Amino acid sequence: MKRKILILYAGGTIGMQASEQGYIPVSGFEQLLREQLRVGATQQLPDFEVQELEQLIDSSNLQPSHWSELSEQLISQWRDYDGFIILHGTDTMAYTASALSFILQGIDKPVIITGSQIPLSELRNDAQDNLITALILAGNYDIAEVCIYFNGRLLRGNRSSKLKSTGFDAFDTPNYPWLAQVGIHIDLHPNLLQAGGSPEFLDKGYQVPDFNPDAVVVLPVYPGLSARVAQDMLNHSEVKGLILLSYGVGNPPDANTELMSTLEQAVQSGVTVLNITQCLQGRVSQGAYATGATLNRIGVVPGSDLTLEAAFTKLHYLIATQPAQKIAGLMQQSLCGELSE
Ligand code: ASP
Repeated sequence: MKRKILILYAGGTIGMQASEQGYIPVSGFEQLLREQLRVGATQQLPDFEVQELEQLIDSSNLQPSHWSELSEQLISQWRDYDGFIILHGTDTMAYTASALSFILQGIDKPVIITGSQIPLSELRNDAQDNLITALILAGNYDIAEVCIYFNGRLLRGNRSSKLKSTGFDAFDTPNYPWLAQVGIHIDLHPNLLQAGGSPEFLDKGYQVPDFNPDAVVVLPVYPGLSARVAQDMLNHSEVKGLILLSYGVGNPPDANTELMSTLEQAVQSGVTVLNITQCLQGRVSQGAYATGATLNRIGVVPGSDLTLEAAFTKLHYLIATQPAQKIAGLMQQSLCGELSE
C-alpha cells in the first residue's frame, strides 16, 4: 500500500517568483510541481496532496503564531495522512522545525520540513531534489520525528541551524550526526532516530500552545555589554525568559558586577535566564571557568548544546505550557532529542 503524504506549502523561496522588488511567495505551487514532474514520476512517488496556507510568507516574517497555525493544520489532519512535508522558507526553517518538535512531541509519523535556495520555477534549482527526496523519505521510511531534509541530509529538526546563506548545503546539525545521508543510496541511521510514540495531541481537549511573542528575548554577550542594555530588555513585564548567548563554554563578562546583578534580579523576579554558547559546536560547561561559575551562583540555567533556535522555541513552548517552577528543570532535560544531557 502506497503511503499518502500531505505537502503543506507555507511560503519561502521554493515557491517564489521574481518580482520588481525581488523574490516574493506566490500561490499555485501544486500546478507548478505537477508540471515539473516527469511523466511517470508520480507513480514512483508516494501519493501526495498539496495544500497552501492562506497567507504565504517570506519566512523572515515568521511569528511564533505561525507555529500554532502550522501545528493546528497538521493535528487536524493527522489521521488522514501517513506523513507530512512542510515547504518553508530557509531563513527561519530551523526555528519552525525546533518549535514543531516540541509542540508535536511523541509523534508516530514523519514531519519533514524542506525548501530551497533557488525556486522550483527556475531551471537550475535545488527545489526539485529537496522535495522529491523528502517525499521518498516520508513515503518509504519509518521516521517519527520532525526533521529537515536539505541537500542530501536528513537532519533532526531541533538540532538544525542554517549555516550558509547561499550554499545548497545550507543546513547542518553541528552537535548531532545526520539522521540520513542521501547519495546514490539512502543511508538512514535508525539508531539515531527518536522512537515513535502516540502523540498527546490526539487526546480530545488538547490545546495547541498560544505563544506570547514578547515572552522570550535574546541577549548576545559582546565586549562592552552594559547592564543598561540588559535592563532595557528586561523592563517589560511580559518577558519571562532571557537567552544569554555567552562565550565559549558558557562564560560571561562577570567582572561587570552590575550586569551580573541585573541578571540575578531577573532570576529572582521569576525570569528564566538560560545560558547557551555563541560557538557553533560544543556545549556549555557552566563552571569550567570562574567567570561561568558566577552564573551558577546567580541561578542562571545552563543550556548544554542547545542551538539558539531550539533554546528559543523550547523556552517559548515551556513558558506557554508549564508552571514557572518547572521550567528550569525541563530546560535541562531532553524532551525530544534536542540536547545532550
Ligand atoms: N527569504 C527566504 C525565506 O526564508 C529564503 C529562502 O526560502 O531560502 O522565505
